[in-house]
Amino acid sequence: MGTPQALLAADTDRTQDYVFESARLPEIRGASRQLDDLDRRAANLVRQRGGQVILSGGGRLLAIVPLDEAEALALEVEKEYVSETRVATTTVDWRPLPPGALEQGYPPDPGRPFGTLMNWIEGWLRRKKESRETVPFWESLPHTERCRSCQVRPVSPATLQKYPDWPLCDVCYAKRTYEGRFAWFHRFQGFLKRNPDLERRYYAGESPFPDSPADAGKRFARHTPQDLTEIGEACGSREGYVGFIYLDGDDMGEVFARLPTWQACAGLSQAVQKAAEEAVLRALAIHLHPAWVFPSPARASVDEMPSEEERDELGRMRIHPFEIITVGGDDVMLIVPADRAIPIAAEIARGFQAGVAKRFAAEGLSHPLTMSGGVVLAADHNPVRVLRDLAKELAVEAKRARREAGAGEGYLDFLVLRSADILDRRVARLRGTYPYTLPVPGRKPLSLLGRPYPASTLQAIWEELHHLRRARFPASQMHLLAEALLRGRREATLFYLYQKARDKGGGFAHLDRILEVARNPDDEPGPLPWSIPPKRMGYSYRTALWDVAELYTFVS
Ligand SMILES: [Zn+2]
Repeated sequence: MGTPQALLAADTDRTQDYVFESARLPEIRGASRQLDDLDRRAANLVRQRGGQVILSGGGRLLAIVPLDEAEALALEVEKEYVSETRVATTTVDWRPLPPGALEQGYPPDPGRPFGTLMNWIEGWLRRKKESRETVPFWESLPHTERCRSCQVRPVSPATLQKYPDWPLCDVCYAKRTYEGRFAWFHRFQGFLKRNPDLERRYYAGESPFPDSPADAGKRFARHTPQDLTEIGEACGSREGYVGFIYLDGDDMGEVFARLPTWQACAGLSQAVQKAAEEAVLRALAIHLHPAWVFPSPARASVDEMPSEEERDELGRMRIHPFEIITVGGDDVMLIVPADRAIPIAAEIARGFQAGVAKRFAAEGLSHPLTMSGGVVLAADHNPVRVLRDLAKELAVEAKRARREAGAGEGYLDFLVLRSADILDRRVARLRGTYPYTLPVPGRKPLSLLGRPYPASTLQAIWEELHHLRRARFPASQMHLLAEALLRGRREATLFYLYQKARDKGGGFAHLDRILEVARNPDDEPGPLPWSIPPKRMGYSYRTALWDVAELYTFVS
């Protein structure tokens, strides 16, 4: 036997609140990067003390450490988080590893050694978290001014000099000026360098670099977005709309639980992070280009207006039209222009599955490792945290649909946020009501929801919608077709047939095909635009036409 060992686990406490307490992207960006770097620093501390990292990322850490180092490490990791962020904390706990636990699990279960070990240590971790739940206290004197960004903590006089028009607290100031804040943009550029085809595609023929040093910093400069307004302005179909994308790995806990050794766990965890990162960067490079947008008024208050040379004749500036909030472990969160959100999300799901497949097969696992999630399409004035909450709920719906279908690929759900929806943020409840579910007196209701879809199906629908747009199928006609659904099944069918009979542009050939592509494989074809779900379902007919009509407004 070597030196006695301990199993050490860490999990950050409510750090999502820390990241999303501000509305502006630089603070969110800085906070998210701080936490990401802290994950890495914690893992490095473990290695420096002779430990082995099993899982790291997304605020979590699981490691095997020398028993006599465990307590010191736990304290050190906890201290790192507080000293960097002042308010975001992590909880660390450790237990001596019982003999044979790494091979057999604890309590022993050869079928899922890591499942039992993780349950065991996480049980202790949870107990520790609950025992020290504290509410952060901020002394707010009656006359102190509150930080503009978080609206919670008092303004720090020291930051007033830097941002007189945007007074910040110390915490938000540290986020905004965090030195690692541009890491994702740098990684994106590094990715493009390694993939010249994608670099050409992203820059669409223009040079990514100035032709002469004298041009440096002029109109070749690409800024990072200041707020959702700038990303929304890059939306070609409906200006001012953004897409919030959230995806994460399906059944990851169960997959890791069944791995035979901790080395396999560590290897797969690294492969997952790498595949997620590559999938995100690739999807952005394929579907986006730098965009000319008007600088957000928010820039004036923080002295980040572009210089005259950086603007075009209309006064616009160039930005990278996206914000990667996180790619941590198998968690992916990003914001893009709304007209690109669906294909980007579908490409991430596809790319992740392909990227991790080889490693997964090497572990002798047969079922593919997939990623599912949600996309919220919304006007740019909505708070980022509301979009985040909704996207996470959609991800739950997508995962449920995938499980029920037993599908070998990730699923995607989406929501076009109307202002009324925000009053009732529960996605599941929203969908049980008009217009998504239509009551029919004396019979089962109609369902106007085909969502969630397998990622490849949603991608196929999206591509067909582009054909429809190219065939100049009018948005107004699509709107009328969708509206007819609200008058009931027969009326909607008659209206669909009537419009189709009068169709001269060939749009209905595409539309018929879209509805066929979108039809749930469990459903029988019905009179278009309907399909007939299995008897066990709670409704008599359903259609994807409402989904299609909502998406069509975003196709440019
Ligand atoms: Zn603040």
